[in-house]
Amino acid sequence: MTEVLEKETFSFQTEVGQLLEIVAGSLYSNREVFLRELVSNASDACDKLRYAALTEASLASSEDFAITLELGKNKTLSISDNGIGMNHADLLETLGTIAKSGTGAFIEALKAEEKDKVGLIGQFGVGFYSAFMVANQVDVLTRKAGESKAWLWSSDGKGSFTIEPAERDTNGTTVTLHLKKDAKEFAEEVRIRHIIKTYSEHISFPVKLGDETLNAAEALWARPAKEITEEQYTEFYRHAARAFDVPWHVMHNRVEGTLNHTSLLFVPSVQPFDLFEPERKSHVKLYINRVFISETTKDLIPAYLRFLRGVVDSQDLSLNVSREMLQTDPQLVKIRTSITKKVLSELKKKATRAPEQYATFWGNFGAVLKEGLVEDAALRDRILEVCRFASTGAESLTSLTDYMARMKEGQDTIFYIAGDDTAKLAQSPHLEGFKAKGVEVLLLSDHVDEFWLQHITEYNGKPFKSITRGAADLDDIKADKKNDKGKTDEADLSELIAAIKVELGETVKDVRPSKRLTDSPVCLIADDGDMDVNLERLLKRHGQLERGVPRVLELNPKHAIITSLAERAKSDGASDDELLKDAAHLLVDQARIVDGETPADPSEFARRLGSVMARAFGASK
Ligand code: ADP
Repeated sequence: MTEVLEKETFSFQTEVGQLLEIVAGSLYSNREVFLRELVSNASDACDKLRYAALTEASLASSEDFAITLELGKNKTLSISDNGIGMNHADLLETLGTIAKSGTGAFIEALKAEEKDKVGLIGQFGVGFYSAFMVANQVDVLTRKAGESKAWLWSSDGKGSFTIEPAERDTNGTTVTLHLKKDAKEFAEEVRIRHIIKTYSEHISFPVKLGDETLNAAEALWARPAKEITEEQYTEFYRHAARAFDVPWHVMHNRVEGTLNHTSLLFVPSVQPFDLFEPERKSHVKLYINRVFISETTKDLIPAYLRFLRGVVDSQDLSLNVSREMLQTDPQLVKIRTSITKKVLSELKKKATRAPEQYATFWGNFGAVLKEGLVEDAALRDRILEVCRFASTGAESLTSLTDYMARMKEGQDTIFYIAGDDTAKLAQSPHLEGFKAKGVEVLLLSDHVDEFWLQHITEYNGKPFKSITRGAADLDDIKADKKNDKGKTDEADLSELIAAIKVELGETVKDVRPSKRLTDSPVCLIADDGDMDVNLERLLKRHGQLERGVPRVLELNPKHAIITSLAERAKSDGASDDELLKDAAHLLVDQARIVDGETPADPSEFARRLGSVMARAFGASK
């Protein structure tokens, strides 16, 4: 790199610019949290240096890590640390851009949202940029550990920032805030003392104001759980996860034995922004004997528990191995298994003791947890136990065990229907015959459902079966008395079926009488052995499948339209009957529309519909 001697000006990445506008403009009742964000960054910087010094002795310093606050005469507030610091490249990379995945989507959401911007910002965690809520200029004087050059980064948060060479005696970073007129309160000692007590009590490093240490500065997770209050847990969660919500659940456990470890884990009450990003990163921090190792240790937490936040600390892992080697350390795998089992058993407890609260959790993270059904064969049954499903037979979510307890006499199958939206699924004609018999059907609306159902075919000996695939034979199942309407006459459909088959040709795989319909005239289903309707729809949508296989058209032999058509099909001129031909196409299209799809050929559909209506009005013969 060429020597940089002068002040350079850079533009913020577009997203940062947009974010800053929102941050600076938002009337944030709780803007004091900027201090927690900056102190958290300072604490991370100390953590990072402590880790780096493990492998590079030259980086070790005789000084203790600390975060120092200073109140300047001209209403400035500065936050200094003696951590890792930043060089020119780091500054450009980290304080001009947002590396966080999901940023684009977040900004879009912010723009769309008129009211609760603040809530959204909170979920996203604007980190360093929150300084601009209270400051109209921010200076960052920093020197990277092991390097001799220092840099001054400076910005008014209005589109650009500057970087210039500077002087700093030691490694670390000082962030100086030139407070806005309406934010002078943050230059007052009492206020600062209170904020640190509230938000940063349990970060591991001392936060100092003059000679005074403002916080307890000890690792919260190392203290006995019974001495810790709910507020302390929440404050720690917000610090560790850079979150603003109150955690839905806190799990603080110490495991002693062959592999000692302590975990303090939180389940958030809202979905973190990167939950569905392809990286599926975990955010639980790994410590070895209080020394921070890494934020994203791959094998510490399985991807399907990536909603967890918090820390895991073990004395029994070796500090001398690199982060990369740790990833595959068999000890770490043992810790992961132990944590995973613990989390699943805690979830099970919550699910049984507080089903309503659990429903909130499930709404946020159920789809993520279900990934484990595919990925973690060893714990599959434990995961299934904590899965909950919408169902035609229950007002609230149901467990599989409860579903099975409600199965009808003669029912030996767990029935489900999969699609995009439970409310729509609940209206599907495919359900009619099941409803009539009082047979419960699970309504699955997460994409991941299609995938785990490829791997898991049964639960406690009962197979899963999609009601949109294969024949539905409900004859062996005893109906509820109240629902049993008794047998109505079924028309003989053989001529009609023959006529429809001739007219539709290859576009349908088969045409047959239906046992699943009671109110609707028709439905389409996937043949046994063919890909299920919903999976096909998903694959098409994602461009992984060009065209689907022909479906089976089922006719309701008790429906007036079908019985009338069946009569017509028996008459002599049936093979030239235009109405029968139009009806064949219209019935298929009707079934498609009810499934949420479009007619195969919309203009043909409109033409046929028009001609049938015209005939009904007597406008033509
Ligand atoms: P986050 O902390 O969530 O990554 P921030 O916007 O708060 O996001 O910070 C962006 C990055 O800037 C940090 O990840 C870190 O690399 C760097 N940074 C911020 N403050 C400091 C600091 N005091 N010392 C060293 N690096 C820092």
